[in-house]
Amino acid sequence: MSNELHIRTPLIESLSLGQSWGKRVFLKMENMQPTGSFKIRGIGLLCQTGKAQGVRRLVSSSGGNAGYAAAYAGRKLNIPTTVFVPSTTSVELVRQIEAQGSEVRIVGDVWDETHEAALRFSQEMEALYVSPFDHPLIWQGHSTIVDEIIQEIGQPDAIVLSVGGGGLLCGVLQGLQRHNLSTTSVIAVETEGTASLAASLKAGELVTLDKITGVAKTLGAKTVARQAFEWSRQHPVQSVVVSDAEAISACLKFADDLKCLVEPACGASLSIAYQHHEVLESARRIVIIVCGGIGTSLEMLQTWRNSLEAAA
Ligand SMILES: *Cc1c(COP(=O)(O)O)cnc(C)c1O
Repeated sequence: MSNELHIRTPLIESLSLGQSWGKRVFLKMENMQPTGSFKIRGIGLLCQTGKAQGVRRLVSSSGGNAGYAAAYAGRKLNIPTTVFVPSTTSVELVRQIEAQGSEVRIVGDVWDETHEAALRFSQEMEALYVSPFDHPLIWQGHSTIVDEIIQEIGQPDAIVLSVGGGGLLCGVLQGLQRHNLSTTSVIAVETEGTASLAASLKAGELVTLDKITGVAKTLGAKTVARQAFEWSRQHPVQSVVVSDAEAISACLKFADDLKCLVEPACGASLSIAYQHHEVLESARRIVIIVCGGIGTSLEMLQTWRNSLEAAA
C-alpha cells in the first residue's frame, strides 16, 4: 500500500555491540516510527483496511503504544477514535493520546476489564475494534519489517524481538515464511513477570498467567495470541526470559550508546546483546528489533534501577 501510515525505519549496524559480541549486529530502529513503536505498522494497516470497508469509528483498549498508534491512525485517516485505558495509565500517556484527537475513557483497574468494556462499546457503536496484537492484518502489517531487513542486508541468521501478546512475533514469522527463510532463527524475549509465551511453550499448550508483574507492562499479556504459540512450534523460535534489572540496564546502556530512550519492553531484547551472549552462539549476522515505546522516561528508568539495586 503506497499511502501507509508507518515509515521505513533505518537499519543501523552497531559496531560497538557487534565487536563486544564477536558478531555483526544490526538494529532495526522501530522506535523512530511516528508513534514511537512498530505498532503503527499493523494497526495502521488494520485501520486503513477498515476505512476502505466503510468503518466509521475505531475503538482501542490499550493505555500504551497500541492505543497511541490507534489514536494516530484515527487522526491520519480522519475516523473518530475512542481509546479505553486502565486506571493505571499515566496522566502523560492519556494526554498524548488525547493530543492525537482521540476520546479517552478510563475503565477498569486491570487490562482485562478495560478490554471487556472496549469490546462491548465497539459492538454497540458498530465500530472497528483495534486489538493490540491479535488480528491477521496486524501481523501482515508488522511483517513489512522483514521485507525491509531483507532488502537491505539479505538473510540474517537470527532476529531478536520482544513478545507481549505475540503480534510482532507473528508478523516476523509471517515475513520470514513469505521469503522462505525457514533457517533464520527467532529469539523471542520476555521478562520474568510477563513470560506467557515461555510458559505456553514449556507446557505444550496455551497458558494463561495468573498475573503480570514487573516493569515491562507493555509485554504484559496474560495469554499470547494462539497463532503466536502455534507458529512458534513450526519455526526455529527460541524463547528467552530475562530479568527486569537486565531490561532496565539495557535501556540505560542503549540510551548512552545510541542516544535513544526506549521502554523496558524493548530493553528486554537489547539485553540479549548486552548480557546474554550465550543465547546466540553460532549465529553471525543478527538483527535486533528495537521495538521502542513511548511510556518510559529517563527518570522512571533511573528510579527503577535504584529501587532494584536497593532491594538486591
Ligand atoms: C506492543 C509492544 C511489544 C510487544 O508486542 P506484541 O505484539 O504484543 O507481542 C513490545 N515492545 C513494545 C515497545 C511494544 O509497544
